Amino acid sequence: MATKLLLTFAICRLIVTVGLTLDPTELLLLGVDAQLSVDPTDVKAASLDFGLLTGAQPPLAVMHPASSQDVAQLVKAAYGSNFGFTVSARGHGHSINGQAQTANGVVVQMSGSKGGSGVASGRKPPHPRVWPQERFVDVWGGVELWIDVLRSTLQHGLAPKSWTDYLYLSVGGTLSNAGISGQAFNHGPQISNVHELDVVTGKGELLTCSEEQNSEMFHAVLGGLGQFGIITRARISLEPAPQRVYISLSLSLSIIYVRWIRVLYSNFSTFTRDQEYLISLHEQPASQKFDYVEGFVIVDEGLINNWRSSFFSPHNPVKISSLEPNGGVLYCLEIAKNYHESTASTIDQEVESLLKKLNFIPASVFTTDLPYVDFLDRVHKAELKLRSKGLWEVPHPWLNLFVPKSKIADFDKGVQGWDHRSSAVTPDEDVFYLVALLRSALDNGEETHSLEYITNQNRQILRFCDEAGITVKQYLPHYTTHQEWVDHFGNKWDRFYRLKMEFDPRHILASGQQIFTPTK
Ligand code: FAD
Repeated sequence: MATKLLLTFAICRLIVTVGLTLDPTELLLLGVDAQLSVDPTDVKAASLDFGLLTGAQPPLAVMHPASSQDVAQLVKAAYGSNFGFTVSARGHGHSINGQAQTANGVVVQMSGSKGGSGVASGRKPPHPRVWPQERFVDVWGGVELWIDVLRSTLQHGLAPKSWTDYLYLSVGGTLSNAGISGQAFNHGPQISNVHELDVVTGKGELLTCSEEQNSEMFHAVLGGLGQFGIITRARISLEPAPQRVYISLSLSLSIIYVRWIRVLYSNFSTFTRDQEYLISLHEQPASQKFDYVEGFVIVDEGLINNWRSSFFSPHNPVKISSLEPNGGVLYCLEIAKNYHESTASTIDQEVESLLKKLNFIPASVFTTDLPYVDFLDRVHKAELKLRSKGLWEVPHPWLNLFVPKSKIADFDKGVQGWDHRSSAVTPDEDVFYLVALLRSALDNGEETHSLEYITNQNRQILRFCDEAGITVKQYLPHYTTHQEWVDHFGNKWDRFYRLKMEFDPRHILASGQQIFTPTK
């Protein structure tokens, strides 16, 4: 109790003195030695995100926790404080609209904490702990980046089942949304592959939750936009990773893990029919389906808005421009098949018999074999390329929409296996598309590249959906009014609201989502 009082008091002082120089000895008094930082570099970093859209909202301080208890202490202090300060967990800050920020409170910098002040104080959060027999991994704080989780689990020949396209995202950050990539048709999104969580509630209580224990909390937190608690440990389901297969090529040895294929379409309905056929195979044995299925529209806007398409290298068998598209639009189906030792000798046959059933443009098969990790980490290569050209840290007015299958043709892009008890919101149909408009804004004098132009186009797209009766749901949603949030959650709103009142009654957590206003 004494510790709690001291912490509460000292954090209140922190708030009062912010903007002035905080005496480090005051921090020592907190019992949170060097974990609360008002260093301008830390504060500035915590006020920015990948979107670079919002005006910087500097937090009052940044916490680098070394344990779940640190997080619980801080939230408990906020809950008991008369000043009403907020606490927002920040994973890797890859939100678009300031969702991990908080102006009037403390940002808990989850990701990267292991290298931070915990080290200085001699207390470090543990590395991911793999349970090979049970096939799961315990990830500290849900804070580790997925790339780190992959590296740790691969040491045991295991890997998570469901991914995002890009692995430099925190586990806590993607589990607060859904975590979707081309494996979701087989395994569901990442939130469907979690056994257990440790969560600090908005009252500062540390709870363990799962299907069996505190199950309401468990389902609420998954896809819960950080509203009910801060994830401090996540137990993630694993499967055997594709085995190393060595083959002899031109007298040298190559390691092959994944066959990555892209095929092109000029007809939208043929493209969607083939995608829907491929995801309908999800219950088939592994040899009779792909491991990964995604689709995208090819746009001719150079590297900046085409960065995920780096696959089309100078080694292409044909030039894309030589394929005569109807109306100038080409659609690309991206599929991949993992090699297991047992299937290495039959991979050509398996792929061929699956491709036979598809109706893509015949000359448009682009194939490459690459190591498993390189495939999963493919977007990072594009990131490095963009960074080298100064094109990564630019505004990203992204728009991600779930579109029901019945309306995808009206919209002119697939997912399945969702647990409807999670907080994630999807359309009312079992099969739906995630349409991701991942554009970057540039200040290069071209109107169509400007932030204003792209933002306006996003608005027009949403208006079009509304007027055409296409009931889309935003993924990584961004709304600013209460009514928009109520509409977004639809029939999940009442439960969402009730659980918020139960687990975070003072609306302390993740206020950057702008769903609830913190109470004083
Ligand atoms: P942050 O931006 O740090 O936080 C996001 C939200 O989660 C905030 O509200 C924050 O308060 C909350 N939060 C963070 N950590 C915790 C925690 N431990 N406990 C509780 N709440 C927490 N998404 C996909 O599904 N599939 C993709 O393929 C995909 N690719 C992407 C590629 C890029 C380049 C980028 C920038 C984003 C991509 N995303 C994708 C979106 C991404 O999953 C979300 O933006 C995710 O929230 C980012 O994780 P983060 O660690 O950066 O989260």
